[in-house]
Amino acid sequence: MIIGAGPAGYTAAIYAARANLNPVLYTGMEPGGQLMITNDVENYPGYADGVLGPEMMEDFRKQAERFGTIIRVETIVEVDLKGPVHKARSESGLEIESDTIIIATGASAKWLGLESEKKFQNKGVSACAVCDGFFFKGQEVAVVGGGDTAAEESTYLSKLCPKVHLLVRRDEMRASKIMQDRVFKSKNIQIHWNSEAMEILGNEQVKGVRVFNNKTEEERILDVQGFFVAIGHTPNTQLFRDWLKMDDTGYIITNSDTTITSVEGVFACGDAQDKVYRQAVTAAGTGCMAALDAERYLTDKGII
Ligand code: NAP
Repeated sequence: MIIGAGPAGYTAAIYAARANLNPVLYTGMEPGGQLMITNDVENYPGYADGVLGPEMMEDFRKQAERFGTIIRVETIVEVDLKGPVHKARSESGLEIESDTIIIATGASAKWLGLESEKKFQNKGVSACAVCDGFFFKGQEVAVVGGGDTAAEESTYLSKLCPKVHLLVRRDEMRASKIMQDRVFKSKNIQIHWNSEAMEILGNEQVKGVRVFNNKTEEERILDVQGFFVAIGHTPNTQLFRDWLKMDDTGYIITNSDTTITSVEGVFACGDAQDKVYRQAVTAAGTGCMAALDAERYLTDKGII
């Protein structure tokens, strides 16, 4: 059983299916994972001209199915990892038993935690420029964050919007140099250093954001119609909290150089266990490792 349908889950499925392990992959609510909200992927080897994230995930899915993976568009809501046979239940009430589980549930966008952020959810507040940027075509927007995600989102929005305000809470960005350069070169991205979003303003829709400069202690209001939060991600591992060893931020701990978790027969790959690299290609790499680890486990136990 594989839980999750991003690069890690699909790659685990390709390897498991080709090894005759009869994988069944449960996609969850967001098949394709974070790549569905990414535009051009230029750093995945094999795509010389780049590829759109959703197209790449479609390729992964087809490749997994080609070797016999069963793909179920279902969300797993409960697991019982007492073993030796592991159990799970899906949202529709399906009871599943499996000799091994490969966890590839990825990570989700983080929010600032402002009250007004909730109020304007889908009314101008978003965590995905590629999904929602189109709705703000020709309008001014703000992006919060200083990492690669914020750089990517603001660059993407700069092609749709006349002005993008990038709110960076320190006096430098954490993003890679190449991504920062793209931001600096975009004439319509204005970076507000040492700036924090305090409140999103508006009635029915976002009309502005109140920004605090933590150096000058000045406040100002930016007139924006879109507010994009791009401050990182949280691993989607809550389901396994009572069963597996995790670090204090919820990333599943795996034995060094393997995908083996603290429970026998349960393997974890991709962003659910990787807070360092978090790339599609590294997720795919660990997905491969998880399938090989599962195969070795099943052989050692005499199950196959
Ligand atoms: P990240 O590297 O953890 O950066 C998060 C950014 O948000 C930091 O600048 C952080 O500020 C800021 N931040 C966090 N909490 C905040 C808050 N409450 N208010 C304001 N700002 C806040 O996350 P990421 O940008 O999502 O990147 C994660 C990983 O994915 C990285 O390894 C990155 O390289 C990779 N990635 C790659 C690509 C690509 O190659 N195309 C695209 C996206 C992401 P501080 O710096 O002050 O902590």
